Amino acid sequence: MNTIIIGTIGYDTVETPFGKRERALGGSATYASVAASFFTNPGMVAIVGEDFEDKHKELLKSKNISLSGIKQVPGKTFAWGGKYEFDMNEAKTEFTDLNTLLDFDAELPDEYKNAKYVFLANTDPVLQMKVIEQLKQPELIVMDTMNFWIDTKKQELLEVIKKVHVLLLNDGEARQLFDTVNLAQAANQALALGPKFVIIKKGEHGALLFGNGSHFNAPGYPLEVIKDPTGCGDSFAGGFIGYLAKHNAVDEASLRKAIIYGSVIASFNAEDFSLDRNSKLTMDEIEKRFQEMKEIREF
Ligand code: AMP
Repeated sequence: MNTIIIGTIGYDTVETPFGKRERALGGSATYASVAASFFTNPGMVAIVGEDFEDKHKELLKSKNISLSGIKQVPGKTFAWGGKYEFDMNEAKTEFTDLNTLLDFDAELPDEYKNAKYVFLANTDPVLQMKVIEQLKQPELIVMDTMNFWIDTKKQELLEVIKKVHVLLLNDGEARQLFDTVNLAQAANQALALGPKFVIIKKGEHGALLFGNGSHFNAPGYPLEVIKDPTGCGDSFAGGFIGYLAKHNAVDEASLRKAIIYGSVIASFNAEDFSLDRNSKLTMDEIEKRFQEMKEIREF
């Protein structure tokens, strides 16, 4: 297994100005794995309860995602509720029911331990650390998090950040975690902890890449239809690591391209609720929008 993704599989109840969905398929690992599947066959590491539906298992399988790292146990699957106002850049969490996530030990199947490309999607930082400890020869470890874990497990989170190559945060989380309004300062504080690169996502406005002495600014795609931004961060990350895994590359030029592919896949994700858009997305559509992104930034 070349690429693995650990995070949540969940049932989301989401309300946006354009509609509401109850208990739709979601979770950080779900969105990220579907996005990565355009480039590679990722292995998922997550826990679900007995309410996890077969049709959702089938959807993941149809994308050639390996499910051998998914544990199904008695109890309920992780569930999250969120609401977006007209500023769709940040969800207001209405509830987080950790459910079976509380029983997860994040033990990797043997064939996952040799993974070179690893995405630690948003989940308990204690689980993210457990995964790192089991890896034999990681080439690139990318991690994400969110305000819930900054509020509840900041110290554990900082320990994980010290061990990864690329840290992803959205702008609000970067300000919160490093207690500064200045994103460049937040990125420098993050780099000082150990990662080689920090990517700060700014929702529909694009993403910033900071390295030691380097900087790249990726544009957002001007979407005319946005229905539900849930999972855009995870789709971005999945596309990002999937592209790098496919090309077996970790140099900065490849990271820049990977950021654009991640942005493209995230932009499609926002066009509909849950996985409705990205489960039908094609590589042709991705390549076409990638070219448009190139044109957007030419001057
Ligand atoms: P995002 O890409 O940031 O919009 O991620 C949205 C996904 O994250 C949703 O599908 C949720 O199920 C999942 N999620 C929400 N809260 C948490 C949490 N505290 N830990 C892990 N995953 C979460």
